[in-house]
Amino acid sequence: MRIFDPHIHMTSRTTDDYERMAAAGVRAVVEPAFWLGQPRTGAGSFADYFDSLVGWEPFRAAQFGIRHHATIALNPKEANDPRCREALKLVPRYLDKDSVVAVGEIGYDAMTPEEDEVFAAQLELAVDHELPALVHTPHRDKARGVERTLAVVRASGIGPGRVVVDHLNEVTVGAVQDAGCWMGFSIYPDTKMSPSRMVEILRERGLERMLVNSAADWGRSDPLLTLRTGEAMLAAGFSDDDVDRVLWRNPVEFYGQSGRLDLSETAAGEATFEGSSILRGGS
Ligand SMILES: [Zn+2]
Repeated sequence: MRIFDPHIHMTSRTTDDYERMAAAGVRAVVEPAFWLGQPRTGAGSFADYFDSLVGWEPFRAAQFGIRHHATIALNPKEANDPRCREALKLVPRYLDKDSVVAVGEIGYDAMTPEEDEVFAAQLELAVDHELPALVHTPHRDKARGVERTLAVVRASGIGPGRVVVDHLNEVTVGAVQDAGCWMGFSIYPDTKMSPSRMVEILRERGLERMLVNSAADWGRSDPLLTLRTGEAMLAAGFSDDDVDRVLWRNPVEFYGQSGRLDLSETAAGEATFEGSSILRGGS
């Protein structure tokens, strides 16, 4: 099974996770810029974080033969802090980087007027930079959040086929499918969405425009839930080709719209970072 995890926060994961992911068939990932738990207090913290998403983290992934790409944006939660909103000015510079394949995560957290403004501004950046957009949906008041998200996407003029609306469930998937956007599902160990529920959704709605990710962030999460979903699909009677479509060809098609996906093989351990090639065994 070859796996492309289209939404995973590797910054929060250990080197052991990279090792397990590579052994499980994960060959490519997209890491979206998001909040880090501890609130940031200024734009400088964002610059360092964005730099690590296009520098250090791809280097770390390459040690295990995994291709790492990023999406860059000011996240909705921190869009509410005027000190952080300064980071919006940094975003365009990063959208020009080779390994940045979308604008994201954008969208809503608490659905404030500040979030409205920053969401619309960053959809405009996606249009200007000819990049797809990754949209986070709020975990509270999900149905209303998705409805409002789709209205903002429509108003922005971006093609619905260039937008993935993520963290969906059985209640919210229908509106996103009808809108023509891509549908993202974050599979978690014990909340939000499980491999068996995901299989039911695929059975009901088909495989087109479906993206399955492990999110794997700072809460209880598991970077191998993409693999577990593939296994659950096979057990439910889906073919190897179906699994390959969902776990590999769909993310390649979606992020391929950036024109920047690099899926050439890397020999594990070949990469260098700012002149250093030592990671394993370093102190
Ligand atoms: Zn995320």
